[in-house]
Amino acid sequence: MDYNTEVINSAATQIAEMFKSMVLSQQPGGQGHPTIAQIETCMREALRQIGIQALGQFLSTLQTTPVCELPCACGGSLHYQRMREAQIISVFGKTSYTRAYYAGCSCQQGKAPLDEQYGLEPGAVTAGLAQLLALAGIGYSYDQSPKWLQAYLLFDVSANTVRSETERMGALQEKQEEALIQRSQDETYLQERQRLPGQVAPRRYGSIDAAKVRIEPRPKKGHAPAEHEDWRDMKVLCWFETESVPPAQRSARQRQQAERQQVALRAKNLHYFCDITEADDFGKLLWATGCNLKADLSPELIFLADGAVWIWNLVARYYPNAIQIVDWYHAEEHLEIVANVTFPQGPDRANWLEGVTQALWEGQVEQVIAACQALAASCELARKAAHYFYTHAERMRYDRFRAAGYMIGSGMVESGCKQIVTQRLKLPGAQWTVTGAVQTAKARAAWLSGLWQSLCDLRSALPLAI
Ligand SMILES: [Zn+2]
Repeated sequence: MDYNTEVINSAATQIAEMFKSMVLSQQPGGQGHPTIAQIETCMREALRQIGIQALGQFLSTLQTTPVCELPCACGGSLHYQRMREAQIISVFGKTSYTRAYYAGCSCQQGKAPLDEQYGLEPGAVTAGLAQLLALAGIGYSYDQSPKWLQAYLLFDVSANTVRSETERMGALQEKQEEALIQRSQDETYLQERQRLPGQVAPRRYGSIDAAKVRIEPRPKKGHAPAEHEDWRDMKVLCWFETESVPPAQRSARQRQQAERQQVALRAKNLHYFCDITEADDFGKLLWATGCNLKADLSPELIFLADGAVWIWNLVARYYPNAIQIVDWYHAEEHLEIVANVTFPQGPDRANWLEGVTQALWEGQVEQVIAACQALAASCELARKAAHYFYTHAERMRYDRFRAAGYMIGSGMVESGCKQIVTQRLKLPGAQWTVTGAVQTAKARAAWLSGLWQSLCDLRSALPLAI
């Protein structure tokens, strides 16, 4: 949009004059002399008031001359009643406007065509404000959001409004995912897709993990509190690509990796998806989102995860040709656990751990299994570790993976779990229904994946749809 500089200049001059007379009436440095912060805040408030007036007047001018009669959705007809005032909550606060109102049909329904035309819902928040509320809602707890919003917007919004707008964004994301799932089951689409333009990443990664969420519905008014809390798994999937990190930008861990002759890699183009659902249904999301990114067409598709059976089952089912890698840090941790329970702190522990860790690093999994088995008679955890390394041996050929330049740590998706689950769903005072947790998490995942603007566009296009 191009702005008329003259109009803006003249409005600015008027505001400046108004503030000049307000401030200059006070003694400089004297009591009651406003600070720059106070002036800024006052000016923001004045501009907000102007916004309320300007938006209200503008919406009112959109109303064309009313006609006498309109067809009603029921098949009957509506008659013009009067110009009627309505209020919406916009980015400026409560904003009033007037528009033509029609009623008098036998079905008793009334309507204001202007509202329908511009997606205005009297009494409700506008699409512009909804995006800001949802943005607060994915970042802060619903109890805390109103405080942050008050500081930014200069007016009050209730925690419940923030909650419902955030969940609405999550619901839109869910709809998008459902559409992807539908499409990914369409054979014609799958075949045509190979010929469709669009980049295929030469090397794409997928990573899957899960984190616990406490489900404890808020007791409803007049209802007894929920009898039990429940822990559910939020499954998180991350698609990404990698690029090498220039030496000057390397973190401590990446410098360490470089010293060990491993390429220092970082993730780019991250896409997060999440749900509280059974593995089978999560598999559909895994397939659908991968199809959308043409992950299955990538010459090299690599999955990184911990040892969870359900994860590897899904990978094998949907992406049978993918390279499977058990996250290095998970594997290494198993050795540390065995060392901790088997040896007292000291040189024996250090020697054992160093030896097996080096063997694992070199992909000598059989050596690691033997070392664990040697301790198995006296240590149940060592027996379990031996079984773990045996089960995942082919997913731990770290020598080969490193030689191919693959990322071997699943930090990306763990950081996704942390950012989606720990940093939002586990905030103090969080009480979740399954739907509330899922929709909030999906909205947050969309934000982290750079999909926010597309959700906002959908929210504007369908203000009354959900
Ligand atoms: Zn009617």
